[in-house]
Amino acid sequence: MAFTRMLRCLSRSFTTVSSSSPRVCIVGSGPAGFYTADKILKAHEGAQVDIIDRLPTPFGLVRSGVAPDHPETKTVTNQFSRIVQNGRCSFLGNVSLGSSVSLSELRDLYDVVVLCYGAESDRALGIPGEDLAGIYSAREFVWWYNGHPDCRNLAPDLKNTDTAVVVGQGNVALDVARVLLRSTSELAKTDISSHALAALEESSIRKVYVVGRRGPVQASFTAKELREILGIKNLYIHIEEADLHKTPADEDVLKNNRINRRIHELLSKAATSAAPFPTLGQRELHFVFFRKPERFLESDARRSHVAGVNFERTIIREDGSGKQVAVGTGQFDDLECGLVLKSIGYKSVCVEGLPFDPRNGIVPNIRGRVLSDSTGDLTEVEKGLYVCGWLKRGPTGIIATNLYCAEETVASISEDIKKGILPSTSDPSKPGREGLLQLLDSKNSTVIPFEGWQKIDAEEKRRGCLKNKPREKLTSWQELLEVARK
Ligand code: NAP
Repeated sequence: MAFTRMLRCLSRSFTTVSSSSPRVCIVGSGPAGFYTADKILKAHEGAQVDIIDRLPTPFGLVRSGVAPDHPETKTVTNQFSRIVQNGRCSFLGNVSLGSSVSLSELRDLYDVVVLCYGAESDRALGIPGEDLAGIYSAREFVWWYNGHPDCRNLAPDLKNTDTAVVVGQGNVALDVARVLLRSTSELAKTDISSHALAALEESSIRKVYVVGRRGPVQASFTAKELREILGIKNLYIHIEEADLHKTPADEDVLKNNRINRRIHELLSKAATSAAPFPTLGQRELHFVFFRKPERFLESDARRSHVAGVNFERTIIREDGSGKQVAVGTGQFDDLECGLVLKSIGYKSVCVEGLPFDPRNGIVPNIRGRVLSDSTGDLTEVEKGLYVCGWLKRGPTGIIATNLYCAEETVASISEDIKKGILPSTSDPSKPGREGLLQLLDSKNSTVIPFEGWQKIDAEEKRRGCLKNKPREKLTSWQELLEVARK
C-alpha cells in the first residue's frame, strides 16, 4: 500500500492527537500488549499508542496458544478489539521487530517503547536424540492445530504410531494431550485449523503418556484443566497408585497449598476409580511421575525417527533453597512411542540491541524498566524502554496475570514521566506513527491495519459458518495478506 494511502487508512478512525502527547509503541499484540495499551491510554490522556505485531493478525497467544476447545477464554479478544478501536490506538500488523524495523529505529521514533512480544521459542532438554523426526515442541504442535502460519506445514505423523509421549506436566501438556485424545466430532465444532482436524481424524494415536520429572504434589497443571482432561468421555486413565504416596515433605507442601491439594485429590480419585484395563480400542491417558528424560531412542525400522524415550527414575529432594527438585536414582526404563511432544516451557527470543538474560530467557528489568547490560552490572535503565508479559517475567501465568504485569510496567512509565526521566510531552524529534509508516514505506513493507484484520476475521467467520464452526482460520501468510489487503 502506498504510504499516503496507508496513512489515510490508518488515520480514518483516529481522533487528532496533540503533538505534545507521549508517543508509545508496543511490540506484540497478545494479552500483555493489549493490557499495556489499555493502561497507558487510561493513565495518559492524549497518549498515542501504536501496537505492532509481526503477524497480520492480532491477539498473540489468545489466537495461537489457547486451545480450540476453550472458546470462553478467547472472548477476551472483544475487549482487546475495543481497546484498539479507541481513537488514540492503532494496530500495525505484519511489522516485525528486527526485520521490518530495528529496535534502535523504534526507539528513535517513539518516546516510549514497550516490548510485549512474548516467548516464541522453546526450552530444550539438551539430551541425545532430541533432533530425531517425530519429536516436536508443544509450542509447534499448538501453533499447528491453531493455524499459526509458521507451523501450518508441520505435518506431525499421527498415523504410524499408536503412542505419544508428552514430556512435562504443565497446562500446555494437558492441552496437547487433550487435543490428541478428544473425539474429533467435538473438535470439529471448534476453531481448530482444518489441516489439524483432518490429521486428527486419521490419527492412530490411542495412548498418550504425560510424563513428569517430579511427583503429583509438584505437577504444575491446574485443577480446572486436570478435571477437564480426566472428564473426557470414554477415556481409560492410568495412574500408578504408588506414585500418589505422600512423604512427610509432601504433606507439608499440601498443608499449605490448596491448589496442589486439590490436584492430588483429583489424581487419587482418578487412580482409584479407574477400570483395571482399557476396553478394546479405548483411548488411554497415562500420568507417569518421577521420570526424567535421559535420551531419545531411534527407530530401527524408520531411520532418524524416534522410537521411544529412555527415562531415569527420580526421587524428590530439597535443593537447600527450599525447592523440591528431581534427583536421578540410576534406574532407567524405556517408553516406546512414535511421537514426542516436549512441553517443558516456552522461551523468549532476543533482538539486536536488547539486553537479554539467556539463562532465564527474559529481558533483565526492574518493575518493567529494561536494565542496561552495557556495563555488565545491570544497574542502569534503558531510558524509554520497557517490557511486559512473558518477556519480562518468563513463560508463566494465565492471560489475566498480564493485567497485573501491565499495571506494574505502566506504573513505572508514569513514575518516570512524573520524575522527569521521560518527557511529559512528546519529543518533537520523535515522529511516532507517521515516522514509522514512512520508514516502513521506504522499505516497501506492507502494513496490515486493524481494518485488514477485520477483513480476515470476517472471511474466517464466513468460512467457519459453512462448516458449522466459529471460524475457519486462514493459515498461510499469502492468504492472510491477500484477504487483509482486499
Ligand atoms: P509450565 O507450567 O512451567 O510447565 C512446564 C513443565 O515442564 C513442568 O512440568 C516442568 O517440570 C517441566 N520441565 C521443565 N524443564 C524440564 C526438563 N528439563 N525436563 C523435564 N521436565 C521439564 O509451562 P507450560 O505448561 O508451558 O505453561 C506455561 C504457562 O501457561 C503456565 O503458567 C500455564 O499455567 C499457562 N497455561 C494456562 C492454560 C490454561 O489456563 N488453560 C493453558 C496453557 C498454558 P518441573 O515442574 O519439574 O520444572
